[in-house]
Amino acid sequence: MSDFFNSRYAALEPYTPGEQPQGRSYIKLNTNESPYPPSEGVVAVLNRSEAEALRLYSDPTAAALKRALAACYEVGEENVFCGNGSDEALNFAFMAFGEDGIAFPDISYGFYPVFAALNQIRADVKPLKEDFTINTQDYLGIGKALVIANPNAPTGICKELSEIEKIAASNPGHVVIIDEAYIDFGGKTAIPLTKKYKNLLVIQTFSKSRSMAGARVGYAIGDKALISDLETIKYSTNPYNINRLSMAAACAAVSDQAYYDENCRRIIETREWTKDALLTLGFTCLPSKANFLFAAHKTAGGEFLYRRLKEEGILVRHFEKERIRDYNRITIGSREQMEELVGTLKQILGSLQEEV
Ligand code: PMP
Repeated sequence: MSDFFNSRYAALEPYTPGEQPQGRSYIKLNTNESPYPPSEGVVAVLNRSEAEALRLYSDPTAAALKRALAACYEVGEENVFCGNGSDEALNFAFMAFGEDGIAFPDISYGFYPVFAALNQIRADVKPLKEDFTINTQDYLGIGKALVIANPNAPTGICKELSEIEKIAASNPGHVVIIDEAYIDFGGKTAIPLTKKYKNLLVIQTFSKSRSMAGARVGYAIGDKALISDLETIKYSTNPYNINRLSMAAACAAVSDQAYYDENCRRIIETREWTKDALLTLGFTCLPSKANFLFAAHKTAGGEFLYRRLKEEGILVRHFEKERIRDYNRITIGSREQMEELVGTLKQILGSLQEEV
């Protein structure tokens, strides 16, 4: 730390992103990216004329993208906010709506406590239940904002919409943020409920089901007054928050929805295949509605398996946190990648038995 760093940030513990190895090529199952490329339509718009247009600023109103998303989700354009990744939309929502504090689960997206600390917002951390589900009761009428990832990460467990509705209805004075980064892999979106609950803000991303993690595009959908507040923060931070190439790519992706729906179907199918294979190998898997599985082996430790898999060229995500250190979060890749994972795990576990 330099002598010049604002003391307000001195104790900040920044978020640790999953490894993005640049040298050795791994089967990369650690950051929940899609194994499938963006659609042909996306590739087609990233052409020379779009590259040449980079000399111009991007559209600060993100009009074309808002139009596309509004049509896709049957909401008004004034109900859509576009962010530089959903991380930015989340951070802006913390800034805009966290004044009375913000509640979230103890085991969830690791960025929530960081956004709270960065913005000096009191965090009210609610433990998950023994079975790793979110206890709805903990979030009813709590007198502060709250954020829930649905499906939750890294567990993959998804809440019923009726539970989300109960939470939104019981907190009319505060914003309820539902982070739906993984909703397209089997969950039901709360977007339609945003018409009924003016305090409900749903956040989604192009990083997972739409295969565009590197483009950094996310969005929030909610009542137009909430969206206007997010715009105020954006215009006070970075008006051109989405670059031209990403904006064009995102618009093209929305019009190729059928391609992405088919990818999600394949990923769900591969997830269920992988889950059965892992159960046979002696793993416990939480019931996932996301593009990853959270799995613990009955004898081999989480960190050990993470390390051995890495040696064999397969990256998964391990979290050094007391309650979940037996687990690894495994992104669902292609069927071939998952067959490779299962084969490698079989070998690792087999060699353990020989040692005994
Ligand atoms: N929410 C959750 C629950 C996530 O796991 C992630 C991905 N790390 C994000 C939000 C952020 O995604 P992005 O900024 O790529 O849209």
